[in-house]
Amino acid sequence: MKKYARFLSGALTLVLVSSSTSYAWNGRGHMMVAAVAYKKLTQQTKNRVDALLLLNPDRDNWFDLIPEGTSVARQKMMIFMIAATWADRIKSDPDYHTDGTNNGNTPPNDPSASQNIGYDDLARHKYWHFIDLPFTQDNTPLVPIITPNAQTQINAFRAVLASNSPDALKSYDLSWFLHLIGDVHQPLHCTTRVGATQPKGDDGGNGAKLTTSPGNLHSFWDGVIGKGNTPSTALNAISTLPNAPASAANDLDVGHWINESFEAAKQTVYKSPIGAGAGPFTLNQAYKTTARKLAEKRIALAGARLAKILNEELR
Ligand SMILES: [Zn+2]
Repeated sequence: MKKYARFLSGALTLVLVSSSTSYAWNGRGHMMVAAVAYKKLTQQTKNRVDALLLLNPDRDNWFDLIPEGTSVARQKMMIFMIAATWADRIKSDPDYHTDGTNNGNTPPNDPSASQNIGYDDLARHKYWHFIDLPFTQDNTPLVPIITPNAQTQINAFRAVLASNSPDALKSYDLSWFLHLIGDVHQPLHCTTRVGATQPKGDDGGNGAKLTTSPGNLHSFWDGVIGKGNTPSTALNAISTLPNAPASAANDLDVGHWINESFEAAKQTVYKSPIGAGAGPFTLNQAYKTTARKLAEKRIALAGARLAKILNEELR
């Protein structure tokens, strides 16, 4: 990206972040997932992901986020971490356009919605970041699940990463894959609550308002893992994560991960003081503490699963 474009991109990021659109774990959360994973990669897999990420067109800009004097080995880990935020970075990159409707959250009704053509594709595909599984607490009829979504795309990218496809396509797919594995471990990226006053759903908690900043439930969960969106702060933050239990880490079925998130949303996210409807609701300390613990578990698990898939399947 050129300098001016970068400035513009930064300005747009501020606007977007402050208007709290759907971001799915903040940059820190995604970088933590990637950092957990990178530490578990074999040297051979590290070399492979390093080589693939060299082809990401945004990569030169990532070095601005890495402190001077960082060792080469650590730089490579940080590049991998920042790559996990690339699918969010293009949301504010003026070279890319928002496709689909509903601010890009509903896919266009044509084959471009699920095309997998690599970096020539300048569509943001914002509807790839989540899967809205509907549930209700008041017997409102459920809305259908829309495709393509995070599940269809994770499966598509995973298949390419294990195939003999060209590296240029694998680079694009890896960049998306790193990100989407993080996304589907965020409960509100797998859920929409429909109810009497919100029959079409609450957009993964974006429509559940809070009385304090951030102004809605989705943004609260994206940011619950804490502030500090640099690779250095994200790397420091993984030291306090719990270890993912081996049995769960070995479960590489994407449908299971999504179901875990969906169940967590029903059992933990949409609980008192979150009542029915659009709110606004006021979170208490007990809710926030439980949320943080769940987020830490989900991030540790996402990282362990990501590492295992890359070690076992990436060619
Ligand atoms: Zn996302």
